[in-house]
Amino acid sequence: MTSASDNNGELPAIIGGAAVRPQGPPDWPGVDPAVSAAVESALADGTWGKYHGPHCSQLAERLAEYHQCEHAILCSSGTAAVELALRGLKVGAGDEVVLAAYDFKGNFQDVLTVGAVPVLVDVFADNSNLDPDGLEEAIGPKTRAIIASHLHGGVVPMSDVMQIARRHGVPVIEDACQMPGAVIEGRIAGTVGDVGIHSCGGSKLLSAGRGGALVTNDAELVQRVRLYSHRGNEAYPLSELQAVALLPQLDQLDVRNAQRQRNADRLRQLLADQTGLAALDNSGTTALPGYYKFGFTYDVGAFSGLSRESFADSMRAEGIAVDPGFRALHRIHSRRRFRTVGDLHNAERSDECVLTLHHPFLLGSDEDIEQIVIAIDKIRRHATMIQQQK
Ligand SMILES: *Cc1c(COP(=O)(O)O)cnc(C)c1O
Repeated sequence: MTSASDNNGELPAIIGGAAVRPQGPPDWPGVDPAVSAAVESALADGTWGKYHGPHCSQLAERLAEYHQCEHAILCSSGTAAVELALRGLKVGAGDEVVLAAYDFKGNFQDVLTVGAVPVLVDVFADNSNLDPDGLEEAIGPKTRAIIASHLHGGVVPMSDVMQIARRHGVPVIEDACQMPGAVIEGRIAGTVGDVGIHSCGGSKLLSAGRGGALVTNDAELVQRVRLYSHRGNEAYPLSELQAVALLPQLDQLDVRNAQRQRNADRLRQLLADQTGLAALDNSGTTALPGYYKFGFTYDVGAFSGLSRESFADSMRAEGIAVDPGFRALHRIHSRRRFRTVGDLHNAERSDECVLTLHHPFLLGSDEDIEQIVIAIDKIRRHATMIQQQK
C-alpha cells in the first residue's frame, strides 16, 4: 500500500508512473481497407465530388433494407435527424416533447429549436436510461412526441414505452445513435419507435465524420421531412463521399457489434469483481445492446474519495478512454425552458456518477480489456496519493 515500494511502473501515470497503455487508446475510425477501397473508387470515377451519384441512394436503400423498414432519409447529423423527425411529426410552437432528464443535450436543444417545450422524466437507477414509469404522468394534452434514447450500452424497454405512447396516441422518436444494429426485444434499434435516428458523426459506430439518418415506415413523415429539407437544394445534406465511406461500414456492422458485445460481456464480468464500479444493467429487458459507449457508475467512497473526474483523468493518463457521462438536462438549462415530472433523482445520480468507456476498446483483444482493469486497480491502490500529489 505504501509508496516507498513502488517502482515507476506501478505508480499511476497521472503522478509520474508509466502508463498501462503508453500507445494510448485504440484509434477510431481506424485504417479500414474496405473504406479505403470504396473511397478510392469514388475518387477514380468522379462521384466523390458530385451533388448526385449512386452512393447516397444506395446507402438509403441499404439502411432501409437493414432495418426492414420502408424509408431511410439521409441527413447531415444525428442532431439534424432528431430535428427533422420532430418537424416530420408536426411538432411546433407550444407543443411538448417528453424525454429523459439524462440524455444527449442536442435532443433537448432540438425540441427548443422547433419551438416546443421539453418535459423531462427520470431514468432507471441501475441503467440511466428512460424509465417508462414517468411517461404516464408526463403526457398531457400538449404532448406531441416522446424521445427515447438508448444510452451507453443500456437500453430503453421499448415495448413498455410504445404501449403507453399508443394508449395516448403520441408518436415515439427512437434515438439509436449510440447503438446502430442493436437488437432490443427482438427488434433492431430504431425500428420500434415511429421513427428511428442514427448518427454518422466522427466518433460513432458508423462514421463519416458527420452525417445522420432517419428510418421509418411513416410515408407522411417522410413527405414532410422532404418538403422541409429540400429547398431547391438539400438543406441538411449527406454527401456522396460520406455515403461511399459508410456503405462498407454498414456491411461490417453486425460482425463488429458481435465482437463489441463479447468484449463488453467480458468487461461486465471483470467489473462485477470491482467494488464501487457497476456496469449499466439491462437485465430488465432482452437485448443485444450496441456500444458506442460502455457505461458504468462510479462510487467515490470505494476510491478513497477520489472524485469521478480525477478518476477519469487518471484512466486517460493510463491510455484508457474513460470520460464522465452526460450532464442532467435540468441542471444545465434555464428552468424557464422545460417542465419536469417527478424528482429526477436518478438522472441527477447519473449526472454525478456515470462514466463511459469509448467503444474502440471493445473491438480490441482480451489484453486490451484486461488493461482496463489493471489501470483501475492501480488507480484504486493509489487513490489517496493521487489526491495529495495532483
Ligand atoms: C451522437 C448522438 C446524437 C447526435 O449525433 P450527431 O451526429 O453528433 O449530431 C444524438 N443522440 C445521441 C444519443 C448521440 O449519442
